[in-house]
Amino acid sequence: MYRVNEIFYSLQGEGFWTGTPMVFIRLSGCNIRCPFCDTDHREFRLMEVADIMRAVAKVDPENCGHVCITGGEPTIQLQEDLTDALHLHYYTVHLETNGTRPVPHSVDWVTLSPKEDVPHIGPLAKVVLNQASEVKFVFDGTQTEDVIGRWAQFPAKWHFLQPCFTGDSAANAAIVRATVQYVKSHADVWRLSLQTHRLLGIR
Ligand code: SF4
Repeated sequence: MYRVNEIFYSLQGEGFWTGTPMVFIRLSGCNIRCPFCDTDHREFRLMEVADIMRAVAKVDPENCGHVCITGGEPTIQLQEDLTDALHLHYYTVHLETNGTRPVPHSVDWVTLSPKEDVPHIGPLAKVVLNQASEVKFVFDGTQTEDVIGRWAQFPAKWHFLQPCFTGDSAANAAIVRATVQYVKSHADVWRLSLQTHRLLGIR
């Protein structure tokens, strides 16, 4: 049984696959607590793999070809029974993780969004993965060059720097400017990622 927060069909808003239609399976629960987290960790419905596949087919009757398993922290629950069922229906399986737990080998695309350097999180956020498809580093304007440079070294095909949006529009503008400047001056590694779904107000 999986604790499922929600299943919905939308566009990927961030990283390499930005703009790609995907089904999102949001699993409930996370092993860390970031201060800026906007995910509801508590709400869930217990679902078996067959229930999940029925819900996926309902929101995506045409089969868009991509499913993103997200959270919370999806590796707390994810097993190969779910990725196998998705592969049987010809989905490419994407996963978004904080990297603190192993990822099933059957996942096709791993997005690592490390939280090690978020203040007051502690050792629970230590990344144990040793590779990913893409690194998505959320830049809040405070992380030092040393910290960002460390994630630039992490083995991945793509490295995205993504500005962290707060409730303060002046602060947001400053963080975006700093992010753009950083990407421009480290063009060999970093690319800009934006939370386009949030900017466009889509779901
Ligand atoms: S790792 Fe992600 S889901 Fe977990 S608390 Fe941090 S932002 Fe929220």
